[in-house]
Amino acid sequence: MMYKIKPKIKESDCPYCDGKGYFQLLLGGSETCGCCNGTGENSTE
Ligand SMILES: [Zn+2]
Repeated sequence: MMYKIKPKIKESDCPYCDGKGYFQLLLGGSETCGCCNGTGENSTE
């Protein structure tokens, strides 16, 4: 296979929310990720 499967989480994405910027709650709705403040970016390096 010439194609390499990309990892689900990029280095530039927040590892806590998978780069989405929020958490999906089991009971419904979503909560803003406090790690990246909803940006979905990994600010820590
Ligand atoms: Zn986050």
